[in-house]
Amino acid sequence: MLKSQKMQNTFYIKTFGCQQNHADSQRIASYYLARGFKKAKTSKSATDIVINTCMIRQSAEDRVTGLVKNIAKSRKIKPKIVVTGCMVGMATRDETGKYIKALRHRMPEVDEFLPLEEVGFDYPALRSDVSHAWVPISNGCNNFCTFCVVPFTRGREISRPYEGIIKEIVDLAKKGCKEVTLLGQNVNSYGSDLIKNQKSYKLPNGKTVKPVMVKHLGKYRIPTLFPYLLEDVCKIKGIKTVKFISSNPWDFSDELIATIARNKKIDRNLHIAVQSGDDKILKKMNRWYTRSQYQNLIKKIKTQIPNAQISTDIIVGFPGESEKEFQNTVKLSKAANFTYAYISKYSDRPSTAAHKALGDDVTHAEKDKRFHILDDLINHKGNKRTAIR
Ligand code: SF4
Repeated sequence: MLKSQKMQNTFYIKTFGCQQNHADSQRIASYYLARGFKKAKTSKSATDIVINTCMIRQSAEDRVTGLVKNIAKSRKIKPKIVVTGCMVGMATRDETGKYIKALRHRMPEVDEFLPLEEVGFDYPALRSDVSHAWVPISNGCNNFCTFCVVPFTRGREISRPYEGIIKEIVDLAKKGCKEVTLLGQNVNSYGSDLIKNQKSYKLPNGKTVKPVMVKHLGKYRIPTLFPYLLEDVCKIKGIKTVKFISSNPWDFSDELIATIARNKKIDRNLHIAVQSGDDKILKKMNRWYTRSQYQNLIKKIKTQIPNAQISTDIIVGFPGESEKEFQNTVKLSKAANFTYAYISKYSDRPSTAAHKALGDDVTHAEKDKRFHILDDLINHKGNKRTAIR
């Protein structure tokens, strides 16, 4: 190669974790293209490998560490290894500097830790599927469930501007997109930070509306614009199906139920995380509802939206969960008739309140056993599988 010929920089992104991470990776791809990189077909041919990380469980972090070591070992000329996503988000927000030090120690092969804030929201997502799009509408979370690392990795909830979301979906529809999934860690509290103390909000169509006040346990909790946003997305020509994840039970307002009921474009498969069916455990998790309040919510939804189906998230082996508490989750699962559940075994996460105060006292074998009981019951409708995953 002539000295004057510069080798083309190419990138490959490996994504771990949830749909929000996959949506972030689409923006990261666009960020790299804007910097003159080309997309590599495989990781083996890339000059830069970007790993978008997840911290929801220790196993997710271990897989990242393993991948970094493998890349460094398997290539004759080591590519530039860039780590981004939740692990870097945690390091950015840790003022003591201990977490970034630990990351550097654990993965000395990494050349750059890229905070997502450097990528920002301004890069358009690079999507390969024309017919469906993940559209982030907010990022971060203010809820601090005691098991969850998200408020530490992604920070407090920030809503994207209403107008920008609508504009993006109008553009997508013009390009042939038929289905959108609105994404947020707490998607149904969208807009509470946009409203602040205002009594009214001007929508992009010029209409002034009163924010929907979400009521929880008889008290007003937060104002939100989510029902308005959903309704406006449904009005976009060309969009046939609208989905959204993840919603929290305590922000599932009556107005949201009514909006879904009257808009046939909104998917009837609703994902509402319950996490446990035991009141004592829910309290320890800092989830603001009881089992019966959750059951009443899904009853209300199914009454007003007759063809609604509910799926959920459940954690087994949360600290202090004995057989009695676990059986309450089994009871709830039987009564709720969930279409499916993402079941996870409790994983002690740094910085969380559960990590600091509750420990991790349920054995691995017990978590495994409870996982399989619920998985068989909910995801295989009682048809036991013989293979252990
Ligand atoms: S609401 Fe969801 S993202 Fe927020 S802290 Fe709880 S589990 Fe985590």
